[in-house]
Amino acid sequence: MELIFRAATVHRLNHPPDQVQLCTLLNIKTGGCSEDCSYCAQSSRHADKVGLKAEKLTDVETVLVEARKAKANGSTRFCMGAAWRDMSGRKRGFERILKMVQGVRALDMEVCTTLGMLTPEQAAQLKQAGLTAYNHNLDTSREYYPKVITTRKFDERLDTIEAVREAGISVCSGGIIGLGENDGDRVGLIWEMSQLPEAPESFPVNALVAIPGTPLEANERVTVQELLRTIATARIVLPTSIIRFAAGRISYTETEQAMAFMAGANAVFTGERMLTTPTSGWDEDHAMLARWGLKGMGSFESTTVRMKENQKALEATEERKAAAAASPVGAGAAAEASA
Ligand code: SF4
Repeated sequence: MELIFRAATVHRLNHPPDQVQLCTLLNIKTGGCSEDCSYCAQSSRHADKVGLKAEKLTDVETVLVEARKAKANGSTRFCMGAAWRDMSGRKRGFERILKMVQGVRALDMEVCTTLGMLTPEQAAQLKQAGLTAYNHNLDTSREYYPKVITTRKFDERLDTIEAVREAGISVCSGGIIGLGENDGDRVGLIWEMSQLPEAPESFPVNALVAIPGTPLEANERVTVQELLRTIATARIVLPTSIIRFAAGRISYTETEQAMAFMAGANAVFTGERMLTTPTSGWDEDHAMLARWGLKGMGSFESTTVRMKENQKALEATEERKAAAAASPVGAGAAAEASA
């Protein structure tokens, strides 16, 4: 209770305490992923046992129909996830994703993607297309990570996060609790975030949904106390980040979810489903927020997102000014101006 009280205090100093962002996540390419994340239904390693059929990349118009529906229902961030390791050899698919990003952004929504590992060039193209945020979770502590995933290194994840940050895109990076980790691993995950050159704009906290057929199918649901301790600790260590109460939310009661908002969570995923797991719907979530005196957060209302959006524009203006001053014409103009 003391931890929640302290987290709530930090929350109030850094965020409007009555706002919770509603986000909608769409799976734009289901299954068939070559990675071996032991919690995930979309890994091809678990496909036979899970029984999930791989699908092709969705077309742009279908995505935009879903984004419009999400916006009409009050979601202000639209996230798109594709199940693959990276985008090498997917030139046409990547071009289609850039169009999706442009289309969603044109709806005046925050737009986020999660597409596996990114190169700096791909990150720059996504930024140019209007991407607000890129999700790439660290999942757990550096120490526990090899017990969960063996096909991608922890440091490779950090490289992608760096490419995203360098491109001027907001970083969304968090983890999953309930993987079999201990308290120290949860602290380790949050500590790792605190060591990044910039705290992530968004820190998703997922409570494992144990999917039959995955290696973690028998894991027990994390207790509400473990969940609240994680959210509250993240809120204190990452005071300006949006803490997203993501997968697994519907297995907690409304009062438990309200305690998570009290502890500092200020975003949820809502709509028809998450990538492969269920979530509660818009009407249900609007009604829940209203019962607790909470309301949705607008697009680009979060200070951190706004700053990130403006930062690159400012840098570009400064670069243009410097280039103009350095050119003979620009230097002449500058001299004239000072005379
Ligand atoms: S979590 Fe992502 S990278 Fe890992 S198997 Fe699932 S889709 Fe692939």
